[in-house]
Amino acid sequence: ATPTAVMVATGVGASQGVLIKGGQALESAQKVDCIVFDKTGTLTIGKPVVVDTRLLKNMVLREFYDYATAAEVNSEHPLAKAIVEHAKKLHPEENHIWPEVRDFISVTGHGVKAEVSDKCVLVGNKSFMLSSGIDIPVEASEILMEEEEKAWTGIIVAMDREVVGIISVSDPIKPNAHEVISYLKSMNVESIMVTGDNWGTANAIGKEVGIEKIIAEAKPEQKAEIVKELQLSGRTVAMVGDGINDSPALVSADVGLAIGAGTDVAIEAADIVLMKSNLEDVITAIDLSRKTFFRIR
Ligand code: ADP
Ligand code: MG
Repeated sequence: ATPTAVMVATGVGASQGVLIKGGQALESAQKVDCIVFDKTGTLTIGKPVVVDTRLLKNMVLREFYDYATAAEVNSEHPLAKAIVEHAKKLHPEENHIWPEVRDFISVTGHGVKAEVSDKCVLVGNKSFMLSSGIDIPVEASEILMEEEEKAWTGIIVAMDREVVGIISVSDPIKPNAHEVISYLKSMNVESIMVTGDNWGTANAIGKEVGIEKIIAEAKPEQKAEIVKELQLSGRTVAMVGDGINDSPALVSADVGLAIGAGTDVAIEAADIVLMKSNLEDVITAIDLSRKTFFRIR
């Protein structure tokens, strides 16, 4: 394509809210034969809400949430925000004060740990509990499986080394996610989902959106490795993501596409920014690239 054609295409993209950062990105997009999608905030809406709470110990719900919320109140994670939002509803009075928190630590991809008044509180996933030496009782495992089949994410809450309850959050898929994946299939583009979330929830979401190839419990570096492996097998790979944890993969991909509503770090790392945060614009970008480069050849 001539520089003018590229400039025109970039302008057309921009007018539709598809920000293409350079000629190279536009050129690579037409060769893409597989797309790696992040789950949370990319295929799903990204605003999880608490939908279920299951207590394993004889504890008052409000008190349970006071401890869990105090541990999560300093976390930026969307799951933490869901818990805090839910707990606030249990305290309709304006100025509820959460219990005192000391020694807060946040472990990426795992959860949070803090001393909350008289208890040591951990909130996070299975691998976080196991690596912290906390046993997961059979009853808890069963609840987790049940919740994950519903595409919910079960968050484990432990106090003084004992699992006391499970908080389930739901993060629904975007209304057009299934349609976008089907359409990509018809364009001969394969879709793959990678997520830091657990396998059960990931599989359930995959089924809803129509993605068969799924990789769950992936750390940020693993997301990038998956992209590189696909490239080594001869594929031209696009990555679509919104989070800080997606940025290594966005950089590694032949074309990195960031959801506009995502974090600044992801937007920086990407080659193309979908300003309207609409998944359909993944197709817009590929179409634009195909049209620009096929026409001239
Ligand atoms: P992703 O954004 O791809 O879902 P993350 O790496 O942010 O993945 O998180 C992976 C998993 O780690 C979450 O699904 C959750 O189980 C756990 N986790 C991370 N941070 C927290 C937190 N603050 N509270 C509870 N669980 C957490
Ligand atoms: Mg995400």
